[in-house]
Amino acid sequence: MSAVHSDAFVFFGASGDLAYKKVIPALQAMIQHDGMDIPIIGVSRSGWSLDEFRQHAHDSLAAAGAVDEAAFAKLSGLLRHVDGDYNDAPTYAKLKAALGEASHPLHYLAIPPSMFARVVEGLDGADCASGARVVVEKPFGRDLASARELNATLHRVFPERSIFRIDHYLGKEAVQNLLYFRFANSFLEPVWNRNCVDNVQITMAESFGVQGRGKFYEEVGAIRDVVQNHLLQVMTLLAMDAPPDSGAEALRAEKLRLLRAVRPLDPSEVVLGQFAGYREENGVARESDVETFAALRLRVDNWRWAGVPFYIRAGKKLPVTTTEVVVDFKRPPAVTFDRALSTGANYLRFRISPEETIAIGARVKKPGGEMRGQPVELIVRNSKPGDEQRPYERLLGAALKGDNTLFTDDATVEAAWAVVDPVLGHDGELVREYAPGTWGPDAAARIVVGGEHWHDPKREAVEPC
Ligand code: NDP
Repeated sequence: MSAVHSDAFVFFGASGDLAYKKVIPALQAMIQHDGMDIPIIGVSRSGWSLDEFRQHAHDSLAAAGAVDEAAFAKLSGLLRHVDGDYNDAPTYAKLKAALGEASHPLHYLAIPPSMFARVVEGLDGADCASGARVVVEKPFGRDLASARELNATLHRVFPERSIFRIDHYLGKEAVQNLLYFRFANSFLEPVWNRNCVDNVQITMAESFGVQGRGKFYEEVGAIRDVVQNHLLQVMTLLAMDAPPDSGAEALRAEKLRLLRAVRPLDPSEVVLGQFAGYREENGVARESDVETFAALRLRVDNWRWAGVPFYIRAGKKLPVTTTEVVVDFKRPPAVTFDRALSTGANYLRFRISPEETIAIGARVKKPGGEMRGQPVELIVRNSKPGDEQRPYERLLGAALKGDNTLFTDDATVEAAWAVVDPVLGHDGELVREYAPGTWGPDAAARIVVGGEHWHDPKREAVEPC
C-alpha cells in the first residue's frame, strides 16, 4: 500500500539559519521539479507579516543565487506564517487554525534540539499530530542516553513510521552511489572483505573554521557534529552486507546489523585536536576543550571485516575541503616487481564532495626500457559540484511522500551513539592543539597501523587513465 502524500508542510525555525540556507531553496526546487502544491506554513517568533515572510524567502533565494520568479510566485502563494513562541500553547492553536482542512501535515523541526520535546508536546496538545509526520534535524541527542530519551519523547506522540530523522549525507548523490556501486556490480563482492582489503579510510576535511557558529560548535565538537552521524553512515554503507531488496526495511536491517558489529571506540584508538585560534572565535569559551579534529580507528567484529581497521578522520582548518573514502587493497606479493609494493598501489577511491568521483587506483608500466611503474587511476565516475539534486530537496520530497528509505530509524541512531559514547566525555587533556592548514595533531599518524599511512586527499585526482 503506498503511503499518503502529506497535505501541508509546516516548518518550525522558519527564521533560522537552516531555513534560510537550505529549506527555502529546497521548497522552491520542489515547486520547480515536483509541482509541489500544498500549503507551506512557517512558524517563528519573528513578528513577521506574511509579506515580510515572503520577502525573507526571496532574500534567501537571492543569497543562494536561485531566484526563479515564476516558481517564487507560486511559492509566495503557498506560504503562510504563524507567529509565536514555541513555549506558548496559543502558538499551536494558531497553527491548527492555519492547517485548516489538512489532515496529514508534515512538521519539520529546524530548531535547536532543546526545543524538540516542547514542540512535539505542543503539536499533540493542539491536535496537530494525529495523521502527521515529523522530520527531526540532527544532532539527534548528545549521547546514547539522551538519544534514547528523545526517541521515547517522540514515540509518545508519533509512531516510528511517522518519524523522519534527517542526516542530509544520506541525500547526497555520491553517498547513494556508494550503495549502488557496491551492490549493482559483481566484481567487488569477491574482494570486499578481510582477505583482500587492508584498511578503509574515511576523511572529512574542511579548510574553514566554525564560520561564526562558535556557540553551536561548543555544544557539539567534531565527533557529535559529523562522526556519529555522517561518517558512521558512510562507513555503514561501505561495510554492510547486501540487503535482499532496495526497500527501507531491508536496508535498515542490514545497516543496523553492521553498526551493532562495530566495537565501541577505545579511547586509546582516538586522537582529538583543536586548531590554534579556536578559543578566540566568537561564542567559544577561552578554556574550551571541544575537539575540532578527531582521528579514530574502528573495528568491525564480523566475518567479513575481522582484523581490517576502519579509520575515520574529520576536522576543521585542514588543508582542503573534501570528503573522501579510500579502500586500500592488500599489496601484491614481493615477488615479481619490487616497485609495485609501494603503499596504496591498489585502491578504490570514492570522492563524496565537493565533486563526486569513483576511481580505481592501479599501477602501469612506464613507457621505456625498464620495468618501472607509475600510479594511475581509472575514473569510473566524475561529476562536477552542483550536478546533483540537492540533498534537502531529495529528503524533504521523500518525507512528504512517506518514503523513509533515506532516513535513520531509532535503533540505528542509538547503535551509532553506542559506538562513539566511550569517547564523548573525554578529558580535555586529550585534546591536542594543531596548526591551521595542517592535517591535525602529529599524534593522528599513530592511529593508522600496520606500516600504512593516512591518504591525504588531493585537490585533483592523480593522472587519469
Ligand atoms: P538557528 O538558531 O539559526 O534557528 C533556530 C530557529 O528556532 C530560530 O528561528 C529561532 O528563533 C527559533 N526558535 C528557537 N527557540 C524558539 C522559541 N522558543 N520560539 C520560537 N522560535 C524559536 O538554528 P539553525 O537553523 O542553524 O539550526 C536548526 C536545527 O538544524 C538545529 O537542530 C541544527 O543543529 C540543525 N542543523 C543546522 C544546520 C545549518 O546549516 N544551520 C545544518 C544541519 C543541521 P529566533 O531567531 O527568534 O531565536
